[in-house]
Amino acid sequence: MPELPEVETTRRGIAPHLVGQRVSRVIVRERRLRWPIPEDLDVRLSGQLIVGVERRAKYLLINAEVGTLISHLGMSGNLRLVEVGLPVAKHEHVDIELESGLALRYTDPRRFGAMLWSLDPLNHELLARLGPEPLTELFDGERLFQRSRGRSMAVKPFIMDNAVVVGVGNIYATEALFAAGIDPRREAKGISRARYLRLAIEIKRILAAAIERGGTTLRDFIGGDGQPGYFQQELFVYGRGGEGCKVCGTELREVKLGQRASVFCPRCQR
Ligand SMILES: [Zn+2]
Repeated sequence: MPELPEVETTRRGIAPHLVGQRVSRVIVRERRLRWPIPEDLDVRLSGQLIVGVERRAKYLLINAEVGTLISHLGMSGNLRLVEVGLPVAKHEHVDIELESGLALRYTDPRRFGAMLWSLDPLNHELLARLGPEPLTELFDGERLFQRSRGRSMAVKPFIMDNAVVVGVGNIYATEALFAAGIDPRREAKGISRARYLRLAIEIKRILAAAIERGGTTLRDFIGGDGQPGYFQQELFVYGRGGEGCKVCGTELREVKLGQRASVFCPRCQR
């Protein structure tokens, strides 16, 4: 599933080809994504200049002169630039054709993604109640400490709650808790301020490192036929249940927390 670093890498990969370009037409071959693509998207967007490409949580905001296309990659979506008229393969649901001769092509086999239109995207119902971005100063350990008081849920689903902070998906929550030495099963309300300060630093460090690694894939967003925006990262615990801890050698344990697999080291994480 694309997580925040993949979405940010997508933004950086597609933005240089979109900003300053005029949309010539929008072709929708399959309207049934998580929510239906608006019937009038072509009418709304065609003829307009794209003035910016931003990201909020895992939503991409493609800003036109009037209005914004809100896109989400869902479980399996990707965006890349192809030449207008490139033959269409299965699951390639949308082309946004530009006067440059390139088209932004949206592919999504599982169709859990979204393409919506809004005149006021930050107040759209999907975005209005989101917590702060993790890589801004609006997010820090003090916020985690304050928001966790009285919360008896486990710390891992707590930091994955979009109202607390956005964009901390399963991989990054698992890895950040390991780096901070915190057992993911602990109650959120029982963790000290000092440990939350450390946890916030680790969340920022790990997300920033993943985005930096994504930078090596930016060229894949144009002309390719692959799956752009995914990159190898060094994982200490995620996906390694039953294997040895890279720090102490202890066998990593796997439990379910909030319906998600959670791997941790019973020795390094308390
Ligand atoms: Zn360990």
